[in-house]
Amino acid sequence: MSRPARAIIDLDALRANLQRVHACAPNQRIMGAIKANAYGHGAVKVAKALESQLDAFAVRCFEEAFALRLAGITCPIILLEGFFSADELPAIVEQDLQIVVHTAWQFKILLSVQLSKPISVWLKVDTGMHRLGLAPNDIVLMYRHLKQCTSIADPIRLMSHLACADDRHNDMTVRQSDIFFELVDTLKAESSLANSAGILGWPQTHADWVRPGIMLYGVSPFPDTIAKQSGLQAVMQLESALISIKRIQKGEGIGYGSTWICPKTMLVGIVAIGYADGYPRHAPSGTPVLVNDTYVPLIGRVSMDMIAVDLRSQENAKVGDPVILWGKDLPVEEIARLSGTIAYELLCHVNVVMEA
Ligand SMILES: *Cc1c(COP(=O)(O)O)cnc(C)c1O
Repeated sequence: MSRPARAIIDLDALRANLQRVHACAPNQRIMGAIKANAYGHGAVKVAKALESQLDAFAVRCFEEAFALRLAGITCPIILLEGFFSADELPAIVEQDLQIVVHTAWQFKILLSVQLSKPISVWLKVDTGMHRLGLAPNDIVLMYRHLKQCTSIADPIRLMSHLACADDRHNDMTVRQSDIFFELVDTLKAESSLANSAGILGWPQTHADWVRPGIMLYGVSPFPDTIAKQSGLQAVMQLESALISIKRIQKGEGIGYGSTWICPKTMLVGIVAIGYADGYPRHAPSGTPVLVNDTYVPLIGRVSMDMIAVDLRSQENAKVGDPVILWGKDLPVEEIARLSGTIAYELLCHVNVVMEA
């Protein structure tokens, strides 16, 4: 048997989560965010599973989009950060990719560039997140300039991104929506604003296109709810197996730094999963792990390729027994919270064999 660390990807759950997007935003087109290797789930596999049921995909850059094209994905693909220098543009056009234009230097290049066919553009408005995007006051003029440009395809669309939509009580979302939809009204442009939190929590942000990411993977975008409460199903199960079981004497320490001391002579299991696989190093002792479908606590520090678990409740555990680190019965949101991070980061960092 080879090393047992695996991520099992449930494509039926993925498709069910997309249906949830359709149910929340029935009149909108859907741009599925599959950047960062589909949040660690495998972009090609995810794209193939969803392609026929949505309208476009969003990725970070040309290289991510090109890999999808090579795999036979033909639907529209949007580059969320646009192009990084003018020399990327011919290949972007060649592969029929759409670009986000978020900054003045990109705009200037587009005004003068000669392309083999017109390129589709999303103008990104900075409505208050202050990450990417052009100032609302500059958009109308830029939009009209681009409209005159023969190298820019019709329609030119507007996009903005929500900074605080995961907090249902934060009026930042209302302020951003007001700024955005005023521009949309002025220009009568197609538009997109909502991420997963907007889709689930803020119907007024839905606009023409919604951009679900994390909810497709069955994770709640809200810090105070788990996926099930939002009608979502976990897509990834991170699993491995026990590779060693020993009885350790009372008073002995476990793992690097001997940070966890056995309170009595007890059974300790070693699982083949560690931070090199994407299991968070900051998961503290006590973090739940499922061994033989029973919750047991992680003990001691997470190593690069192993963790230790307390098997006092599992006297009959054997080497080879199955271990689940997160999945349907153990929300990745919970592991993330205990580790001081968010599920997005844990999923993106998964680095094990994937099986669909
Ligand atoms: C990643 C991303 C999304 C999806 O966000 P989720 O919170 O995962 O739904 C939407 N829009 C943009 C611009 C993004 O970068």
